[in-house]
Amino acid sequence: MGLLSQGSPLNWEETKKYADHVRKHGIVQFLNIYNKVKERQKDVLLWGDEVEYMLIEMDEKNEKVRLVLNGGEVLETLQDKGEKTNPNHPTLWRPEYGSYMIEGTPGQPYGGTMSEFNTVEDNMGKRRREASSVLNKNETLATITSFPRLGCPGFTQPEYNPTPVEKGVSKSLFFPDEAINRHPRFSTLTRNIRHRRGEKVVINVPIFKDKCTPSPFVEKFPEDDGEAARAALPDHIYMDAMGFGMGNCCLQVTFQACSIEEARYLYDQLATFCPIVMALSAASPFYRGYVSDIDCRWGVISASVDDRTGEERGLEPLKSNKFRILKSRYDSIDSYLSSCGDKYNDIDLTIDEEINKELLDAGIDKLLAQHIAHLFIRDPLSLFEEKIHLDDENESDHFENLQSTNWQTMRFKPPPPNSDIGWRVEFRPMEVQLTDFENSAYVVFIVLLTRVILSYKLDFLIPLSKVDENMKAAQERNAVQEGMFYFRKDIYKGCNPVLDSSSAAQNGLDSEGDHYILMSIDTIINGKEGVFQGLIPILNCYLENMEVDVDTRCTILNYLKLIKRRASGELMTMAKWMREFVDKHTQYKQDSVITDKINYDLLRKCDSIAKGEERCPELIGDPVNRGK
Ligand code: GLU
Ligand code: MG
Repeated sequence: MGLLSQGSPLNWEETKKYADHVRKHGIVQFLNIYNKVKERQKDVLLWGDEVEYMLIEMDEKNEKVRLVLNGGEVLETLQDKGEKTNPNHPTLWRPEYGSYMIEGTPGQPYGGTMSEFNTVEDNMGKRRREASSVLNKNETLATITSFPRLGCPGFTQPEYNPTPVEKGVSKSLFFPDEAINRHPRFSTLTRNIRHRRGEKVVINVPIFKDKCTPSPFVEKFPEDDGEAARAALPDHIYMDAMGFGMGNCCLQVTFQACSIEEARYLYDQLATFCPIVMALSAASPFYRGYVSDIDCRWGVISASVDDRTGEERGLEPLKSNKFRILKSRYDSIDSYLSSCGDKYNDIDLTIDEEINKELLDAGIDKLLAQHIAHLFIRDPLSLFEEKIHLDDENESDHFENLQSTNWQTMRFKPPPPNSDIGWRVEFRPMEVQLTDFENSAYVVFIVLLTRVILSYKLDFLIPLSKVDENMKAAQERNAVQEGMFYFRKDIYKGCNPVLDSSSAAQNGLDSEGDHYILMSIDTIINGKEGVFQGLIPILNCYLENMEVDVDTRCTILNYLKLIKRRASGELMTMAKWMREFVDKHTQYKQDSVITDKINYDLLRKCDSIAKGEERCPELIGDPVNRGK
C-alpha cells in the first residue's frame, strides 16, 4: 500500500505543521528525478502483478471462519525464507493494511516476450503454496476482495473488542484496532485521516432489499455516542473505519514503459478501461455481515480514507482550508496526461496554483504540471520525525508521501532516484479473484491490451467525465450484464503521442462530433455487428500475427475465454456467484443477513475451489490447463 518508513510517527497536529515543508521538498524531489530521467528510453516492456491475500482460520467445530491477525509474523517468516536468503527468490512479500493481510508479487518483473504469459499462473501458484506452507493448521490463504463478516462481533482470531473511545485509532464501533497492521504507518494513517477530517470516516453502502429485509432498514448501535446515529443512513449498511475499505483485497498490474511519453499515453488509455475491467472483476457484494446492493469495493474504500474536512467537501464555506476538493484521495483520476487526452480533460481540476507555477517555470509541460499540482492539494497524512529533513537530490520520500496516498484508479510513477527503473504506470481498479487461473487471466488480458494499444496505436479516450460516470455504473449490482458504459466507437482515428506529438492538437477530432456511445460490457469485450468490433476479436487478431509457442497460445486463449464468457454472462462474476450461494443456503432467511454459518460454508467452498479440490464451472468454466 505504499512507502514504509521506520521511526517515530508524528500526530496530526505535528504533521500539519510540516505539510508545506513536505510539499515544497516533494516538488524539488520530483523535479530532480524528472530532470535526470526525462530523456530515458527503455526498449523493453517490464511488468508485474500484485495480489493481496487474507489469512483465514476455519473453525470446524464451531462452524465459524475468522480473519487471523498474524500477518506480521507470516510476512517475516516468508521474507526470511525468501528474499532475505536469496535475492533471486521467485516471490516477494509485502505488508498490507489489515493485520490479517499480506501482499505477494513475482520476485522479478516479467519481460516483453509472449512466453512469459505462460509463467504468471505458475508464479501465483508458487506464492499461494509458499504462504500456505507457513500457516498453522486450520488456517488458509484466501484471495477474496471483501470478507463478508468484516466488522461483525468476533470476526478476528484472536478475538478483540473494538475500542470506540478517544484513545482508539479508528474509534470504530465494529473494527478493532488490533486488525490494523502493527507497522506504525497504518495506524498513523488511520488516526490522522480521522483527525484531519474532524470526525470518523463515514461509509454508507445501500443494503440489498430482499423479501424479508426490514424496511426501512435502520440499525441501532448500543455503543454509539451519537456520531453513528447522525452518520448512518436508513436502508444502508453503515461502517466507520478505514479498515472497512483498506482491509479489502485487490489485484493490480504495474507496467514499465519505454519512455515517459509512452507511460503517459498508456496511463490515459488504460484509465478508460478502469470501470469496464472493474465491473468484469466484481467480487465484493457483502459488507459487515449484510448483503449489499453493490458488487465492487471501490466506493467503500474511497469513503474509508476520505480525509476531507467539511469545508473541503463543500458543507461549509472555506475558512481554514484552501480548496474545495471534489473527490476522496482514493478515487478515479482527474486529468489525462498525454497530449491526445488534453481535449477530453473536462473535469473541474483543483490545483495548487503556486506549485503549478513552480513546475511550469521549471520547464514541466502543462499536463504533467497540473497532474502533480492536483496530487499536491492534499496534506501528508503520516510523517516520521526522523524523516523530515531529507537529501532532495537522492531521496524522494516527500514526493512519495503524497504520491502514494493519492490512491487513484491509475498511478503514474516516476522512477525512484538513482535506480535503473523506468517510467511506470499502475492499473489499480481490479478486484481480486478466487483462483490463480482467474487472476492470471485478468492480468494477462490487461497486459495484452497494452501491447495491442501500443502496436495498433489505438485510441480509447472519451471525456473524463464519462469515465467517471462509468465508474459509478461499474459498481452497481450486476453491472456486467445490466450496465451501460460510454465507450469509443472508432478506436483507429485517434492520435499517438509517442509517435507524433505535434499533430495531436491539430487533428481536429472535435469537429467530427462524438466518437463514443453507450455499450454493454458484452459489446465492448466481445463486439457487436455494426456497433463495435470488440476487444477480444482485436486481441485474437494480434495473437494470430505473433510468434507464440503452442502451449503459451493455449494458455492465453483459455484466459481470453474466461474474460469473454464473463462479459457475455455465460459465466458469473464472483459477486454474482457469492450472491447465489447465499441465496440458496438453507440458513439464509432472505433478510440480507450473512450468518456465521453461511459465511463459514461460503468460505469453505471458496477455499476448496481455490485449492483446485473442487470445480466450479459456473464461475470459472472448465479450462483445460488448470492447476498447471
Ligand atoms: N487494497 C486496496 C484496494 O483494494 C489497494 C491498496 C494498495 O494500493 O496496495 O484497492
Ligand atoms: Mg497493496
